[in-house]
Amino acid sequence: MVHPFALARHDAAMFPSDPDVLVIGAGCAGIAAARELIARGRSCIVLEGGTRVGGRAYTESASLGAPFDHGASWLHQADQNALTPLARALGCEMLDHDTLRDRRLFADGRFATREERAAFAAAEDAFWQAIEAAARDGGPDRPAAEAAPHGGRWDATVAHWEGAQICAAELSRMSLHDFAATALDGPNMVLRNGVGALVARLAEGLPVRLQACVERLRWGAGGVAAEGGFGAVTARAAIVTASTGVLAAGAIAFDPPLPAQTQAAIHALPLGLLTKIAFRADHPDAPDLPPFAVLRRAVEHEGDRPMALLSRPYAHPYLVAFCGGARAWEMCGDTARAEAEARAEVAAIFGARAAVALGPATVTRWGEDPLFRGAYSHAVPGRMDARRVLATPLAEGRLCFAGEACHPRFAATVAGAWESGIAAARAVA
Ligand SMILES: Cc1cc2nc3c(=O)[nH]c(=O)nc-3n(C[C@H](O)[C@H](O)[C@H](O)COP(=O)(O)OP(=O)(O)OC[C@H]3O[C@@H](n4cnc5c(N)ncnc54)[C@H](O)[C@@H]3O)c2cc1C
Repeated sequence: MVHPFALARHDAAMFPSDPDVLVIGAGCAGIAAARELIARGRSCIVLEGGTRVGGRAYTESASLGAPFDHGASWLHQADQNALTPLARALGCEMLDHDTLRDRRLFADGRFATREERAAFAAAEDAFWQAIEAAARDGGPDRPAAEAAPHGGRWDATVAHWEGAQICAAELSRMSLHDFAATALDGPNMVLRNGVGALVARLAEGLPVRLQACVERLRWGAGGVAAEGGFGAVTARAAIVTASTGVLAAGAIAFDPPLPAQTQAAIHALPLGLLTKIAFRADHPDAPDLPPFAVLRRAVEHEGDRPMALLSRPYAHPYLVAFCGGARAWEMCGDTARAEAEARAEVAAIFGARAAVALGPATVTRWGEDPLFRGAYSHAVPGRMDARRVLATPLAEGRLCFAGEACHPRFAATVAGAWESGIAAARAVA
């Protein structure tokens, strides 16, 4: 028997002429959905608007001379992460970043002492205790910022880290209950060859049609028809995995229009933005940080929005600056500005000579790319139910949505996208 995933990739002959299901998007959710459909004996075609598979999981080696993940780079909560066993089965080399990472903190113009780092860690614990207590207090949903501790030496830094830098949006913009429900912990696994490379391997052999951007989707009891520059394809049902940023922008015209509650859920799950600015860092004067080290700079005044630095994972010769939230949106579309601001962050800590010693930058472009329009979703205050609403099948399963935004626990991750793709493949008519 031929294994269903052993088919020649992107070979037109492999596309079923009358598929049961159209899967729109070949990111994690679309790949997982297609694998699950095929495993269940159902035929499908994956229509992908871009020139590659993987979506927001994308590894390339050309720009920095080593695998660099533009999007997802950690398998969070790896002991419950659906991709961990798949990575192991494929023999991917991976390490628990938490056991390796040298966590450094820069405050008051110098590296923090051991006592200051301990105080910062205590502030992080207090932050999570306050968030979890508030989420359990039976009160109405509200911005997560309202539950966060204020006024302590490290509180603003912790809030900046947990909000803009990790969730890609400020705590003031996020639903407290959704923030608490989707918070993840370690182990945080890093893959030598990248998370994007893993996801691309998981797509091998699937019937993916690239450069097939869906512009209109007709749907109803009689089936579905997807249309775009590639032509038209019909099927019994569709699974749509485009990001909520893409959907909110109206890039796919649904005919008939989506129900009001589905449209409202899409708008209640906007994408935050996380931009990575990666520099080649093999010059002797480049910042002297060990492999896998993470450096955070403290928030020193109102309006200060520091980037964080990750040094040379797997000794790959690069340094990555992470910039999330409103500051990332302000730089969106201006890679020269992003590069200059990241160099200034490095100069403020390591000196101008170290900043100049960094090679040219590779700046990720998730915000301006019309196939993504951001990094990952958060629920706005008051809409903790939006993920469940978006994930509810329409027209008796003829139209299902999937993707990271649909997952109530692993939202904003590859694991959430993967699991929601499988759930949609099981629910679709
Ligand atoms: C900078 C960054 C860092 C991240 N870090 C992590 C991390 O460390 N760990 C983690 O778990 N997650 C991380 N994530 C989040 C993770 O990458 C996403 O949650 C996940 O990849 C989303 O998968 P998806 O299938 O839901 O959506 P996508 O990956 O967006 O897939 C949707 C696909 O649909 C396609 N598409 C869009 N519109 C159309 C159309 N009209 N027609 C056809 N195709 C279309 C897109 O091209 C895309 O391929 C990060 C993301 C970013 C951007």
